[in-house]
Amino acid sequence: MAALATSAKGPPDKGSGGALIGPIAAALKRKAREIGLGAMVRKGMNMTAVVRVPDTLWRIGEEKEGKTRYGRSRQIGLHHHWHCRIIRAIPARTWEETMQKLAAGNWKMNGLAASLGEVQALLAAHPAPVCEMLLCPPATLLAQMNWAARGSNLRLGGQDCHPDAAGAHTGDISAAMLKDAGATYVVLGHSERRADHGEGDALILAKAKAALTAGLTPIICIGETEAQRDRGQTLDVIGTQLDGSTPKGGDLVIAYEPVWAIGTGRTPTIAQIAEVHAFLRARLTALIGPRAAGIRILYGGSVKPSNAAEIFAVPHVDGALVGGASLKAADFGAIVAALSAA
Ligand code: PEP
Repeated sequence: MAALATSAKGPPDKGSGGALIGPIAAALKRKAREIGLGAMVRKGMNMTAVVRVPDTLWRIGEEKEGKTRYGRSRQIGLHHHWHCRIIRAIPARTWEETMQKLAAGNWKMNGLAASLGEVQALLAAHPAPVCEMLLCPPATLLAQMNWAARGSNLRLGGQDCHPDAAGAHTGDISAAMLKDAGATYVVLGHSERRADHGEGDALILAKAKAALTAGLTPIICIGETEAQRDRGQTLDVIGTQLDGSTPKGGDLVIAYEPVWAIGTGRTPTIAQIAEVHAFLRARLTALIGPRAAGIRILYGGSVKPSNAAEIFAVPHVDGALVGGASLKAADFGAIVAALSAA
């Protein structure tokens, strides 16, 4: 086993987080010893403590401002803010083991302040789902929803962002603004934006990079039209979209959403979903390497309580992007429950 190394360089520890460094570092060293690997603890720059365990991935539960967030990393640390404290660190040998399934609701251009009652109802019924639960309201509701969901595990996301960080772009919203309002995700390249606003892969890639820079996880949507499926072009179309709109680094989510299944009540067959998701996992691996095994690939298009369980049983379906059925707490809650049970 490699020796444990400790260095005490860097800024002084601040606030309550600083007090946790000793016990966490000791616990991590113990864990590293248990699994027979070396660990390094250091202090420096804007990190207050970092432990690296060679060739090991960690699934990390962080508590920040009353919310628990799970992430994955090659290193584990207590970083950036005194109010962010690590509550759990689980060594994972593979990217797959670090994956938490995701139920994402896209409210589209729906919802007023009165709709926030649905969020309260959702949280009352599902206070601690096994899967990650995300709602993407219209931007006007983001800050209010963040307030309504304070102290809960609900994640919030935007529905689009501008590729620039700031500037003269009337009516647009930057990734940093979404983050500031409480978002940790942003949906990009939804087929409605591709169709209504003429968005193409290069622009979506630029937006995804901006999202990552601002600390948001992009959910990149791809999918074929009905005519493309009828012509046998599905895999060509989504392969090209994936290659053109996916950043090579950073955490991200892919959503396969056949355009003809969105809001229509129609879904592909289970065999068709299985074919596409297996194809996307392989294509993503070719694009970004082994890390692709831990990237969540969601299915989207007329997911509802009655079909969720069979869709979630399909290999490489790691969750859902849900439109209409996310507007009602009872429906979205049933989908969250189905994914938690999958
Ligand atoms: C969507 O808009 O991303 C979507 C999947 O919508 P629906 O669930 O209503 O088909």
